[in-house]
Amino acid sequence: MTNSQDLKARHDKVMFPSVANYYQEPIALAKGQGARVTDVDGVTYLDFFGGILTVSVGHNNKRVNERVHAQVDRLSHVSTLYPTLPMVELAEKLLSLVPGKLEKIFFCASGTEADDTAVMLAQAATQKTELIALRHGYHGRSMLAQSTTAHSSYRSVPTQIAGIKHAQTPYCYRCPFGKKPDSCSMECAKDIEDVIQTTTTGQIAGFLAEPIQGVGGFITPPADYFKVAVEIIRKYGGVFIADEVQTGFGRTGGKWWGIEQYGVVPDMMTMAKGIANGYPLSAVVTTIDIANSTAKKGNISTFGGNPVSCAASLGVLEEIEQDKLLENCSARGKELRDGLEGIKRQFPKVVGDVRGMGLMQAMELVVDEQGGDRTHNPAAVMKIFEETKKRKLLIGRGGLKGNVLRISPPLNSTAAEIKEAVGILEQSFAAL
Ligand code: PMP
Repeated sequence: MTNSQDLKARHDKVMFPSVANYYQEPIALAKGQGARVTDVDGVTYLDFFGGILTVSVGHNNKRVNERVHAQVDRLSHVSTLYPTLPMVELAEKLLSLVPGKLEKIFFCASGTEADDTAVMLAQAATQKTELIALRHGYHGRSMLAQSTTAHSSYRSVPTQIAGIKHAQTPYCYRCPFGKKPDSCSMECAKDIEDVIQTTTTGQIAGFLAEPIQGVGGFITPPADYFKVAVEIIRKYGGVFIADEVQTGFGRTGGKWWGIEQYGVVPDMMTMAKGIANGYPLSAVVTTIDIANSTAKKGNISTFGGNPVSCAASLGVLEEIEQDKLLENCSARGKELRDGLEGIKRQFPKVVGDVRGMGLMQAMELVVDEQGGDRTHNPAAVMKIFEETKKRKLLIGRGGLKGNVLRISPPLNSTAAEIKEAVGILEQSFAAL
């Protein structure tokens, strides 16, 4: 019989060292049900990271599984050389859910590919190449994505793709301009104009940004950020690509897309993760004009729009609509947020900031000895990880320095599960 330890040893022997696992003693997972997962040793955990915000409607979801089983028995793959019903149905459905006049869709298989595709389209549509992205942003693992990503720890080689400039990020807790919320006049958004004028030719292809920075530690921009930022981008000829890989599919509560929380309509959106509850699928949606800009070129994704992944995605959308998960996400998100704020009040010297929207909530941990210090505290994050694991709760890590806890349960989590997780977190902080 295999156990977690054996499996980990075999894993490490064959996988690239960059494929690192969580925890001092990693957990080899064998099965899941709803918000819970069970390891190969038979221990069950509450899963509040959901495969990195991906298992949006819970493990072993009945509606998703029924559609997947039926589709596997019918047809698993033909490539994009042929239209299939699940692909067309999903395209129609998704396009009915996105804001503005985003009327065309391209399917691929990962968030990285979707972002790469969107950048290429922005360049083709504008006939410009320079791109603005944000510090602390994350957009994937290709060479282009490593260049748009602004975390040195995710950049493997020094040679980045040219023409990508990173503006200051709307990180209110550590405002790059030293402002407090009451003295903020959106310096971070205005920085984009300075970056364009000083570091580009003055004409840009676009702006790639996450509505809430995921890997960055759920950095949540202020309410007017995107209005100011996107106006500047359009003034210099660029298009706005909202990277909804983490924030899409209801994650932020009450709305389908994170960018809708900011009242801005993007020219393009990329989506992945929560789209199909873990089946590999991603998409770019955009306007007819932008999609037409590559009409004369071939551009194929062999796995794009795979019928099984599309069937799974249709199951996710059905689940969100039938079970009113946008509303559930808001209600459970508020309970989670209230619980985390309570922990911050109890442990003010280590919990510096609580932030996020819906069921995308983070705690930034600090060493605060004098009151008001904000020294990054990745060591406390590691300790909380081990303490929560002991108490059978799985959570995520993030932040430039690994200094942030990321908590993102499935959208159909129950009030009892939220309460249980908050209780475990509270005990874990008490044990620090
Ligand atoms: N964009 C964002 C916002 C992401 O969080 C990620 C993955 N963490 C990606 C893009 C890349 O997605 P993938 O890992 O599926 O390539």
